[in-house]
Amino acid sequence: MACADNEDEVDVSDVWSSKRLLAVLEKSALISFSQARDFYANRFEMIQQYKRRRGKSGEPVIDEARDKPFLLIDAIVSLNLKRRDNPSKTVDEDSIFQALAASWNIPFVKVDPLKLDLNLVTTTIPISFAKNHLVLPIGVSQGELTVATPNPFNHEVFDDIARASQLRVNAVVSPRSDIIKLIEEFFGFKRSIAAAEHQFSGPTVDLGNLERFIHLKSADELPSNDQHVVNAVNHLFVYAFDQKASDIHIEPKRAVSLVRIRIDGVLHTVYRLPKNVHSAIVSRIKNLSGLDMAEKRRPQDGRIKTGKNDVEVEIRVSTIPVAFGEKVVMRIMDPDILFQDLEHLGFSSVDMAKYNQIVSHSHGLVLVCGPTGSGKSTTLYSTLRKISTTRVNVTTIEDPIEMVHEDFNQIAVKPQLGITFGSIMRNILRQDPDIIMVGELRDLETAENAIQAALTGHLVLSTLHTNDAPSSIIRLMDLGVPSFLIQATLRGILSQRLVRKICNNCKEKIEIDASALEAMGLATGRTGRLSLYQGQGCQKCRQTGYSGRTTIHEVLPFSDTIKALTVPDADLAALTEGARAEGMISLRESAIERLMDGTTTYQEVLRVTSGGNL
Ligand SMILES: [Zn+2]
Repeated sequence: MACADNEDEVDVSDVWSSKRLLAVLEKSALISFSQARDFYANRFEMIQQYKRRRGKSGEPVIDEARDKPFLLIDAIVSLNLKRRDNPSKTVDEDSIFQALAASWNIPFVKVDPLKLDLNLVTTTIPISFAKNHLVLPIGVSQGELTVATPNPFNHEVFDDIARASQLRVNAVVSPRSDIIKLIEEFFGFKRSIAAAEHQFSGPTVDLGNLERFIHLKSADELPSNDQHVVNAVNHLFVYAFDQKASDIHIEPKRAVSLVRIRIDGVLHTVYRLPKNVHSAIVSRIKNLSGLDMAEKRRPQDGRIKTGKNDVEVEIRVSTIPVAFGEKVVMRIMDPDILFQDLEHLGFSSVDMAKYNQIVSHSHGLVLVCGPTGSGKSTTLYSTLRKISTTRVNVTTIEDPIEMVHEDFNQIAVKPQLGITFGSIMRNILRQDPDIIMVGELRDLETAENAIQAALTGHLVLSTLHTNDAPSSIIRLMDLGVPSFLIQATLRGILSQRLVRKICNNCKEKIEIDASALEAMGLATGRTGRLSLYQGQGCQKCRQTGYSGRTTIHEVLPFSDTIKALTVPDADLAALTEGARAEGMISLRESAIERLMDGTTTYQEVLRVTSGGNL
């Protein structure tokens, strides 16, 4: 190994030398020998190029003194190289620090922000110290404080922390950008909460270390009084966006207030707010969402527009009084999620072709069905965006409007004002729409109006809370729609569910007998040993083994055969059989395809497509 020479012993002063770094990357099979050699020969030019690129990108300025040891790592990461040991992954900061930690024989920790103790992180050391030395206290046990850092050889720094905290210090290795980000997030949030708590409780409250911590700050770092709550709420939003959360809950309890966020369908408690800050935070949110701040006894609904990077994000806010105060639930309406390319929604090519055909009609009724939280809104919005052109007028009637899009005319239902689906439907036909989206066909009046619009030359898209495509036809008739009107207007039905995807970071192969799956109620139509996948659970997926979700579909074009089966005493079994004979791939089959191609697990397929769910 040309770049390693005789460096078998760790010389602390030399631990960040380019030669040693590249040797570790080569030895751990992240890069090849020739790459290591080339990088070593061109290291100065690589760093210069990286600095120039970074200067143009508007990213935070490099702190020369602090960041110098890491510049070659940054330069390599910026190349997005394929890993030599696993070309499906790139040489990223995580893999580099993992390799370094292994070579130093020091544990590598990918810090999970959801598991960090806000108080421990922010009261052990001041933020300026944390930032300058890239150290983040992450846990304490039996007199020992664990500190995550990209540079575990900073012994003087650990001595300082040990003196200040009166604890022994154990350093573990974490990627540098994680540490920088977490320091900003946690100290920012804590500073805001602590300052707000101070402001709202007067000088008698004992803030202990926090008091001292706040005094350490220079005057210009401390924002104006009102600003603390503003900052805390902003931090909360940024944090939720970062974690790709779909909802934020703020729940007042007797002594504290819990902040919980929902990720891939599961709630996680992320903060415990001091009780006296709760109402200030809630007031700020009510103010932002245009709600009546004085009204605390009645439920209210509002919305907030805010920015996530360059994208405008809408947050739907609902407040409701509970025993210990007002509970707030915020749903994050992320346009990146609600408006997608239809092609990216997980359709198989066969189903995609069928669905495109269904929505290409100039008039008629198209139904998207599934339970709450099955991604219907995303499908409808994405469909509308695809079929809306400057030559058509798209009008939506929603309860409430989920996501505002300037290309659509969106109307909200307000039953308390007598503005119902039915009354809007009657009136909008005069507005000459071409395409109408109706939030849900929940009663006969709405269904009749939708059918009327479909009969008079409009394309109407709507949803039904049914389990599968064929049963939607029965549901329409149960609502009281005559079968001849369904025959005259229906174009097709899409049924769907969301399934969690296996985390790519901890995916592993498993072998299982098809008969074992069948015994659990999952007939795959295959025999013998099956090679499937599962997530082992890692920091990136919060030990769940899953990350993100995809959609499974069942597409039923309203063909002549299905039309002929849509008679007054139509039978679900006959409709289903007819649909199958025409080649409809069921939700279960669609899920099994995702199982066999390694997207999801058999447990997830069973969970989503079993029993009452299907
Ligand atoms: Zn994972």
